[in-house]
Amino acid sequence: MSADLNDTIIALATVPGRSALALLRISGPQSLEFLTRLCEARQWRERPRQARLTRLNDLQGGEIDRGLVTFFSAPHSYTGQDVVEISLHGSSWVCRKVLECALQSGLRLAGPGEFTQRAFLLGKMDLIQAEAVRDLIESETAFQARVARSQMEGALSRRLQPLKDELVKVISHMETALEFVEDQVEPEGREALTQRLLEAADFLAELEESFQVGRLLHEGITIALVGRPNVGKSSLFNALMSDERAIVTEIPGTTRDALRERVDLHGIPAQIVDTAGIRETREEVEKLGVERTLQMVAEADVSVFVVDGAEPFSDEDSRSWQAVEGRRPLLVVNKRDKGVSIELPERVEQGCIGRLEVSAASGEGVDRLRQELWRLAGGEEVAAGGEAALLTNVRQQGCVRECREALLEGLQGYRSGLSEEFALYDLRRALEALGRLTGEVTVEEILGEIFSTFCIGK
Ligand code: GDP
Repeated sequence: MSADLNDTIIALATVPGRSALALLRISGPQSLEFLTRLCEARQWRERPRQARLTRLNDLQGGEIDRGLVTFFSAPHSYTGQDVVEISLHGSSWVCRKVLECALQSGLRLAGPGEFTQRAFLLGKMDLIQAEAVRDLIESETAFQARVARSQMEGALSRRLQPLKDELVKVISHMETALEFVEDQVEPEGREALTQRLLEAADFLAELEESFQVGRLLHEGITIALVGRPNVGKSSLFNALMSDERAIVTEIPGTTRDALRERVDLHGIPAQIVDTAGIRETREEVEKLGVERTLQMVAEADVSVFVVDGAEPFSDEDSRSWQAVEGRRPLLVVNKRDKGVSIELPERVEQGCIGRLEVSAASGEGVDRLRQELWRLAGGEEVAAGGEAALLTNVRQQGCVRECREALLEGLQGYRSGLSEEFALYDLRRALEALGRLTGEVTVEEILGEIFSTFCIGK
């Protein structure tokens, strides 16, 4: 992606195809010039940030559409440049025509995330906030959206600021000590500095820890339903899905698979896998079915072992148990409506993390099951730690870890009596890692990597 800010870029910010309305977005120095060629309305500079209904013409003066156009004058725009937003009818011909006119006028199509990249490069937001824009677009649950919004508003960046200030202060303190040897930091001073660095390291460790919740929010969890045929796995699967909590996405490529569905488990996105479907819908030979079940259980974060409460525990149950044995599954005794008479072998009772009696048919106990799955998924930690600013991706976690490790290395030498010079080297590395986290220190490839995961038009 070219980071040339002098190019004027254009993109469709809405999903292409037939729709009621579509939004085109333009950013760059030629925005206004193009707008004047395209629209009948004039005096955009005099009336920024006002939506105006105007006729849109092609370069020969032929009418394309009537649209609602807003001009944002630099620097008061999303990217910090002159920006134009055009709402028009969502016809593919209309959109294509405007894009054609734009290209003929010297604009170019924007790459993924290029608007947000410009906002970052022009200081409208830091890198953490830019990532949060992407997270918000991708959020599927209320909780994910809330965390993304608070990151966008700078919650994490604000949390990091005191740490940065502290590191800068410690560094300048040590530098002074080095420059003016007569001002050698006294032993007590050393002790105090060590204490401050230790506190900073603790803070970083806590922050790194928050990624556990962040990862959960981002990636969600997978829950596998395991049990012999006819215990009611599919019924349970449907019961867990049978309300508005099922997440339905229309993202191409995520066609709904009967075996896997996504639900919103009180804010945690969860994928439930019904291992019953393996054999039934794919007609694989039994052995392959068993292998697939084992694989799915291995990949799942939580497994649920389902038995039929009204039937004795059979050899078939026993074989299914082998797939989850050792993985501390949740035991679900189904068909409670028929009465619970099953006697479970001790290894099953002991090997499960908990036991719930439910009826997939009547829905009894399904809410408790959902609650329990939420808890097993780490819901309590999410609820406790989720409101604080947290790390939401591997890149952020990596920067924080590097920062902490550098800091600890510096501390080690410093505590053993080495000169400030050695500690300074490590502390500067720690500060640089923090700079990379927020994007003050940037590496071109990293930017490319981050922004390429965005949608076009954002
Ligand atoms: P699977 O093979 O484990 O997926 O089991 P199914 O979900 O296909 O269920 C097998 C049979 O048990 C079906 O006839 C269901 O209607 C029935 N069933 C499932 N759950 C319950 C339940 O809670 N109570 C009763 N009475 N029947 C159930």
